[in-house]
Amino acid sequence: MAAIGHVGIVGAGLAGLAAALAAARAGMRVDMFEAQPEPVLPAAHIDVVPNLLRDLAVLGLGEACVRRGFPYRGVAMLDGQGHKLFEVPTAHLAGPQWPAALGMVYGDLLGLLREAVGARGVRLHLGVSVRDANDRGAIVTDAGARHAVDLTVIASGDRLPALGGAAQRPVPEVALPQQWCHVLLPRPPELERATWVVGSTGVRAFVVPVAARQAGVAVLQPDTHPASSGALRRALAAQGPGLRQLSEHWPDDAPVLLRAVSSGVLAGAWHEQGVLRIGRSAHRLTPYFGQAAAQAVEDAVVLGALLRDGHDRDALLEAFSARRGARARKVNAVTTQAAQWQLRPEAATDLRALAGQLEPLVAEPA
Ligand SMILES: Cc1cc2nc3c(=O)[nH]c(=O)nc-3n(C[C@H](O)[C@H](O)[C@H](O)COP(=O)(O)OP(=O)(O)OC[C@H]3O[C@@H](n4cnc5c(N)ncnc54)[C@H](O)[C@@H]3O)c2cc1C
Repeated sequence: MAAIGHVGIVGAGLAGLAAALAAARAGMRVDMFEAQPEPVLPAAHIDVVPNLLRDLAVLGLGEACVRRGFPYRGVAMLDGQGHKLFEVPTAHLAGPQWPAALGMVYGDLLGLLREAVGARGVRLHLGVSVRDANDRGAIVTDAGARHAVDLTVIASGDRLPALGGAAQRPVPEVALPQQWCHVLLPRPPELERATWVVGSTGVRAFVVPVAARQAGVAVLQPDTHPASSGALRRALAAQGPGLRQLSEHWPDDAPVLLRAVSSGVLAGAWHEQGVLRIGRSAHRLTPYFGQAAAQAVEDAVVLGALLRDGHDRDALLEAFSARRGARARKVNAVTTQAAQWQLRPEAATDLRALAGQLEPLVAEPA
């Protein structure tokens, strides 16, 4: 089979945009299909953890991200009174010229990726939903238009198009009964790094500086609890000073973005019918340690490296699954255990020990 020259990507979220950039940098012609008519720019933080920053630097975006975000090192853990319990070190994985980690507005990161793919000549077809992709390299839109490509990459998150008319294998996902409620607030002046704050009644918040004057807050709570802005602010106000202080800067009408938490990785190979799956369409990692996003961008970096090596399609699909599957499953095991920390706070889950387990798994590039 001939080498790949033209890649079609379904979905322009984080995984799809990063994959488009990686493929374009590897010299590919790239067409992207995004169902939404307008770019979605979430007003929430993204924690650009060390392995994610390393991979964004590989994609040529390190400097732009550092300029746009808030560099930090070390993750602090505070008790409900605001006293520091311990700090988890952040490894320096991107290289000596880069900070260890960054907080960013999620929409800003997607915006930088979108600018970068545009500058590389990627054709982004907005408002075009894909209904089917087949092993003869055809991408078929809902409107019935057919686009021929050498390789189709599915990065469509939870919604999967059909493959050659058949349903795709579902990700064997376990739903965890918790939700992350994201909001952007003014940055408390003393907030210099990503910080966990543990409230007195099991409420927890993860706070990440994203700019000199702005921080992203994720309030973690059971998925049965009300998640309106007012309800979250009142829940924080009822805690000790560590969390109460956040509630004081929280306007009642601040928009809240909800993130359901689940965990699971596609069993076996990540390709079917000659079509590759990446990002959330292949792995549903919990939000802990920033690995949901980091693993999605890792998929893109590996795809770019394999395209550059000049594999034909079937060899690339096999090589991709071999490099990504086992690694994503190991990361998923650690991040799933971290989610138990929230579900059963009294259990012996030790977030510091889990961070120590994760570090060697992601220390080397995939
Ligand atoms: C508010 C918020 C904050 C987050 N913060 C963090 C963080 O700090 N750290 C972290 O690790 N993770 C974070 N995440 C999660 C992380 O961003 C996800 O893991 C990541 O978005 C997965 O990206 P994806 O591109 O695979 O899927 P998605 O982001 O779901 O993108 C899929 C895209 O495909 C499009 N699409 C779907 N079906 C079709 C179709 N048939 N045809 C064409 N297009 C289609 C959708 O419209 C969508 O744009 C956050 C998520 C949210 C929502």
